[in-house]
Amino acid sequence: MHVDVYLWWIGVGAADEGLLARLHGDAERVFDVSARVWHGHERPIDSFDPRRQQHSSTRILKWLLETRPRQGSKVVGITDVDLFIPILTFVYGEAQLGGTAAVVSTARLSPEDGFAVDRDLLRTRAVKETIHELGHTFGLIHCARPECVMSRSVNLVQVDAKNGGLCRDCQIRYGELRQQGHEHHE
Ligand SMILES: [Zn+2]
Ligand SMILES: [Zn+2]
Repeated sequence: MHVDVYLWWIGVGAADEGLLARLHGDAERVFDVSARVWHGHERPIDSFDPRRQQHSSTRILKWLLETRPRQGSKVVGITDVDLFIPILTFVYGEAQLGGTAAVVSTARLSPEDGFAVDRDLLRTRAVKETIHELGHTFGLIHCARPECVMSRSVNLVQVDAKNGGLCRDCQIRYGELRQQGHEHHE
């Protein structure tokens, strides 16, 4: 079976299979692709920055490219470690625009108050941010509509404002990008 997107838990803690299952369904539905959950045991090396006590998302992307299950497929790493890029305090994720690899972290997506972790809300947020980064790998750029999954989010209010899907304009743009991709390969 041809697989367009591999979804790979690369965190330190145990994989949240419920999250991966939702992600699998949403990735296939939103982008009309074939996705598969990958259970590779390898984990990123050299991504931890001792000075910042965070992991470099850019180094994880490089590792994903080198370690991905199969050439010709996209790979999305989902992790629980805190991610950064040099100019920002943290990032929810990073992706190669029009490329192959993306990474998303659940570290900053947990509900902040309350005694019990709201696992459902955490999953909902993680799915949105993963769909967002996956959209970048298909060539989609940031969208100005707050409800669109491709809108940029730097805080949880903005994450929660997204409905998890592509707005009409982004759907049209996505269709064009896929079309161009096919012409390019044929
Ligand atoms: Zn983005
Ligand atoms: Zn949009």
